[in-house]
Amino acid sequence: MTVKIIGAGLAGCEAALTLANRGIKVQLTDCKPSAMSPAHHDTKFAEVVCSNSFKSDDPLTASGLLKAELRILGSRLIAIADRVSVPAGSALAVDREKFARAVTDEVTLCPNIEVVCATVSEVDLSVPTIIATGPLTMPPLSDFLTKLFGASLYFYDAEAPIVDGSSIDFDHAYYGSRYGKGDDYINCPLSKAEYYEFVRALVSAERVIAKEFEKDEIFEGCMPIEIMARRGIDTLRFGPLKSAGVVDEAGNSPFAVVQLRKENEEGTMYNLVGFQTNLKFGEQKRVFGLIPALKNVEILRYGVMHRNMYVNAPTVIDRHFRIKKYPTCYIAGQLSGVEGYVESIASGLVAALNIEKAIKGEEPIELSPQTMIGALCAYLERPNGHFQPMNANHGLLPPLKNVDRSKRKEAFFARSMANFRQNG
Ligand SMILES: Cc1cc2nc3c(=O)[nH]c(=O)nc-3n(C[C@H](O)[C@H](O)[C@H](O)COP(=O)(O)OP(=O)(O)OC[C@H]3O[C@@H](n4cnc5c(N)ncnc54)[C@H](O)[C@@H]3O)c2cc1C
Repeated sequence: MTVKIIGAGLAGCEAALTLANRGIKVQLTDCKPSAMSPAHHDTKFAEVVCSNSFKSDDPLTASGLLKAELRILGSRLIAIADRVSVPAGSALAVDREKFARAVTDEVTLCPNIEVVCATVSEVDLSVPTIIATGPLTMPPLSDFLTKLFGASLYFYDAEAPIVDGSSIDFDHAYYGSRYGKGDDYINCPLSKAEYYEFVRALVSAERVIAKEFEKDEIFEGCMPIEIMARRGIDTLRFGPLKSAGVVDEAGNSPFAVVQLRKENEEGTMYNLVGFQTNLKFGEQKRVFGLIPALKNVEILRYGVMHRNMYVNAPTVIDRHFRIKKYPTCYIAGQLSGVEGYVESIASGLVAALNIEKAIKGEEPIELSPQTMIGALCAYLERPNGHFQPMNANHGLLPPLKNVDRSKRKEAFFARSMANFRQNG
């Protein structure tokens, strides 16, 4: 039995090496070097397209915990990243050239992997396959996937930041929906002076420069808040920050209000309604921190606007990365709805382990949602009217009971490690 893997990026290479090292034959196909997406420039596989940082390696951070778990599961790409790392404080950063070279060598020299250089145009859905062609999946495969998934396939990401619910300052916030219709929102009021200071900071904040190939697409979906703010100093308070129908306990309506909507049932994650943004991450922290209730807020996922092809995971795949309608086929990497280099690697690893189980006629692996990888998988499966790609963050984990906020990160780490010990 040969498993077909389409896309030799981070997810595809991780999946290929995982299967091959477990004795399973793999055919790995990539369009490189004959065709390349606008963000890919290297002819080698596992290209790190932008920053060379795999984010923090501190196990008390969410991305550090993700890496710790991947090391336990034997991730080949994280082992290679460790080997070719460059000094970057507590982050794991790689020499991208050495990283791509080492992964490409390992893949091409592996006797169980047959490498094919071709642009894939369609997938035989009856054959065990992992589709891992990434956020810039090349045509004609992108057209094939559009036909296959219809409205469940998205082409770009225009998302508002998501914050940690426990870090919102309730001395400056209160629950309530507009016109007294429930308690679904957290309202973060601004006085006149606070609102004008916020808008002034917003319009002058630094934005991410859109890549040439993104410029035509970015404004189709929704307008970034910083662009809307440039239309006039009062535009936002008649738009996403309007206070109509919002009153505090004393019955007063604020000058302007930012509303936060629950992102998950547990209320550990909230998104800033109408705050799609293309500000640089540091600027999001600084400018959104001017909202009094968000002064010390922890941003779990920053707002982004960039080209990004991904499926509406809860309708298309299950937590094992298996396509619900065609369960012999899997989707991994950014295309599956995870966000980030290491998250893509994790999805490739889990998809590969599950395809191996399927070949052996066994049940898929179950990672506890108390682990970061398990939590990401659970997120992909959970029904979500507003699905957006997700990176590793502590808000995905089930809340801890009776743990002081200052001890939370240690407790998340300890709980995850205990899960791995328990389940071998
Ligand atoms: C411009 C950009 C910048 C990003 N910057 C960061 C960042 O700084 N940090 C971060 O954590 N994440 C970043 N990401 C998000 C994401 O982590 C990366 O895109 C990551 O590489 C995704 O891994 P992947 O395996 O899903 O896809 P990729 O690594 O993109 O791999 C996909 C592979 O599939 C191949 N392929 C595509 N179409 C076809 C086809 N039809 N036939 C055959 N092969 C095909 C490609 O050549 C490629 O080798 C960025 C994404 C983009 C688009």
